[in-house]
Amino acid sequence: MRLSASLLAASALALTLAAAPAVAQDAAVIARAAAIRDAAMNQNIALDYVTQLTTRFGPRPAGSKSEQDAAAWAADYMRAQGFQNVRIEEFPLVGWERGEESAAIVGDHPQRLVIAALGHSPGTNGPIEAEVVRFTSLEALNAVPAGSLAGKIAYIDAGQMVRMQDGSGYGPLTRIRGAGPGAAAAKGAVAFIMRSVGSDEHRMPHTGTTRYVNGVVPLPGFALAAADADTVSRLIGMGETVRIRLSSTAHTYQTTSQNVIGDIVGRSRPNEVIVLGSHMDSWDLGTGAIDDGAGGAITMAAAKAIAESGRRPARTVRVVLYGSEEVDQPNNQGNGGGAYLRGIGTAVEQHVATGESDFGADRIYALGLPLGAQGTDFARAAGQVLYPIGVLPSPQPELHGGSDVGPLVEAGVPVFGLNQDGTRYFDLHHTADDTLDKIDPEQMSQNVAAWAALVWLIADSDVDFRAMRPAGAAAH
Ligand code: ZN
Ligand code: ZN
Repeated sequence: MRLSASLLAASALALTLAAAPAVAQDAAVIARAAAIRDAAMNQNIALDYVTQLTTRFGPRPAGSKSEQDAAAWAADYMRAQGFQNVRIEEFPLVGWERGEESAAIVGDHPQRLVIAALGHSPGTNGPIEAEVVRFTSLEALNAVPAGSLAGKIAYIDAGQMVRMQDGSGYGPLTRIRGAGPGAAAAKGAVAFIMRSVGSDEHRMPHTGTTRYVNGVVPLPGFALAAADADTVSRLIGMGETVRIRLSSTAHTYQTTSQNVIGDIVGRSRPNEVIVLGSHMDSWDLGTGAIDDGAGGAITMAAAKAIAESGRRPARTVRVVLYGSEEVDQPNNQGNGGGAYLRGIGTAVEQHVATGESDFGADRIYALGLPLGAQGTDFARAAGQVLYPIGVLPSPQPELHGGSDVGPLVEAGVPVFGLNQDGTRYFDLHHTADDTLDKIDPEQMSQNVAAWAALVWLIADSDVDFRAMRPAGAAAH
């Protein structure tokens, strides 16, 4: 007997279906994800959360009382929103306080400079006044002979950060922030200053942490606002000898930070966990609205939208508000991501996926799926649900996530990325201008919708990203 063409097609389809994740061919799952997406677009939890967080607690430096109190408040907030198993996971930390700081060009024509100490820089122990030696790269500083900067202030002005939608102009310049004080100390300098890492044209320095060398940050380090960096560089270019006076009472102290963890417990496979990460701490200059109050707002509101959809997903959706993302010194174990990984132990095997929201609140434009998931039925389903809100599939797999979920990713947990428009992120990042008014509620809601729909698709399916990895691929 000859099989009819349609029967043949049907059996071929059945074979495909057997091998594919359940989500892809289930129109009901896709329809539900679309409904969750649309409902999430109209939620108001995200704006409420980040408004209260930034207004009640203000800046939340890692390990500060403000961060600790904000974490306790956020745990209560999660409970009130219906999250289960809400808990706080504490870990020790070396905290850092800025204290008072000032800088000025000294001499016949004194000029005050707008600066910010780099995170974890030591204080100056009284004013430091010295001649400035300018470099245009870290490599140029590293190339001068040891001792050649004795008694001088080393200054790197590597130019303005390149503005990019994906924020890729940032990485090359943060190397200078991390390694600068150590490099300057190795040449005998008494302090380190740099053009701050940012894309804005405002007279506002961008802080950020710097790196320890053998257990200490060896020199006081400062970021200069772009306009002030221009002034110093121009004066040196005009052949002037520039002397700067620096003063800072910054200091470290022993404290604790904490992760806040809450679950939407899965309906049928509660031990399979999807972690949605962001961080609670912020720098001290602004109120940490875009970095990263927004991330907690987006992920919490997305999980809540899933919980309220009328049917709990099969798997557990876990929101983690990590402590101390901005600082993981001096041993790279102090941050919340490391503490979470150590806390779960072998349960890391049951973590089926993770993603991080730490790039402000502007709209999501692309979805990066874990390595090997490109072009699969799952990718097509996700694309179908996200396209109507302007999210396209990224041709690149997501490999890293971010600092908070990074330790999970290193331990083999598949990571997805909902890529946000970062065009203006580095105008505000780590400055006094990182405040609530910079959040566009409509764009933030689009984030919530994308997170809710995607996470629902992962959570209410048996999609196995680990199994999609090409053979021989690294853990992530
Ligand atoms: Zn951040
Ligand atoms: Zn940051």
